Amino acid sequence: MDLNTVTEVIRRPSARPGMDWREGDAWLAGGTWLYSTDQPGLRRLIDLTTLRWDPLVPSDAGLGIGATCTIHDLYAFAPPHDWNAGALVAKSCEAFLSSFKVWNSATVGGNICMSLPAGPMITLTVALEAAYELWAPDGSSRIVDALDFVTGDNRNILAPGEILRRIDIPARALRKRTVHRRFTLTRLGRSTVFLIGTQTPGTSDLLLTVTAGTTRPVRFAFDAMPDARTLRESIEAIPAPVWFADPNGTPDHRRHLTKHFAEEIRRELTDGDPTWHTS
Ligand SMILES: Cc1cc2nc3c(=O)[nH]c(=O)nc-3n(C[C@H](O)[C@H](O)[C@H](O)COP(=O)(O)OP(=O)(O)OC[C@H]3O[C@@H](n4cnc5c(N)ncnc54)[C@H](O)[C@@H]3O)c2cc1C
Repeated sequence: MDLNTVTEVIRRPSARPGMDWREGDAWLAGGTWLYSTDQPGLRRLIDLTTLRWDPLVPSDAGLGIGATCTIHDLYAFAPPHDWNAGALVAKSCEAFLSSFKVWNSATVGGNICMSLPAGPMITLTVALEAAYELWAPDGSSRIVDALDFVTGDNRNILAPGEILRRIDIPARALRKRTVHRRFTLTRLGRSTVFLIGTQTPGTSDLLLTVTAGTTRPVRFAFDAMPDARTLRESIEAIPAPVWFADPNGTPDHRRHLTKHFAEEIRRELTDGDPTWHTS
């Protein structure tokens, strides 16, 4: 769509962009959302993709993902064999409702910064205990827990002019066992709920991440596998306003699905036997 209020596109920002941030500016990544709807408040786009940040940097410490890495490039990534959670990366890309055109352009950082409940890169990075590196216009930077970044539907902690620069997923999280469940109303539909459970090999712990059904990610950590009732009560304690309502599901429907799938994840990780259906 033509953005006819935009009068300037900065194609070559400085290596540390944001110093001259002003009202009406927006960071341009893949542009799949920016160009998909009217943007009456925008005057200037600042293209982050020309900064050529390394898209994927695997190391002994884990996986570093440049914010401008495309969903396409992340999907193509072949994780090392001992990263048990590696398959989750592709599953999360597949959860992205989009055409190939969107896949090829949309970025991991753009998906996170859109902060939609059904943002699969949010699900993935919160479940895998990622940290985000944010750059401020004054040249400073801060590291935040992925869990604390999204605060509501299309809301996050970014201050004006702040950039999501990098996502770091620790190797210890990538080595965990994982089980996921996702529900959509239609085969290629947007997620109604998307849950991921992870477990440290050789332990009975559980980290359960609940997304898409809630306006922001919710994560439960248990040192030992909880019983069914404890898990159910934890989910029931999620405050009512946190459950999301849109044409893909009412809050009640989403709460019901979340409890149902959380129990499936609990049982599958307890048994170590993937006899349950996964979507
Ligand atoms: C057909 C279609 C299907 C879609 N399906 C989904 C879906 O299933 N789930 C979903 O979550 N979204 C979906 N979207 C919305 C959107 O396309 C995605 O969220 C996409 O990942 C956004 O990434 P992008 O790189 O294109 O971001 P852009 O459109 O370039 O930017 C999105 C927003 O994030 C800001 N931004 C981008 N990168 C950064 C950064 N590094 N630091 C700070 N701010 C930044 C931009 O300024 C802008 O406000 C869909 C869109 C379309 C058109």
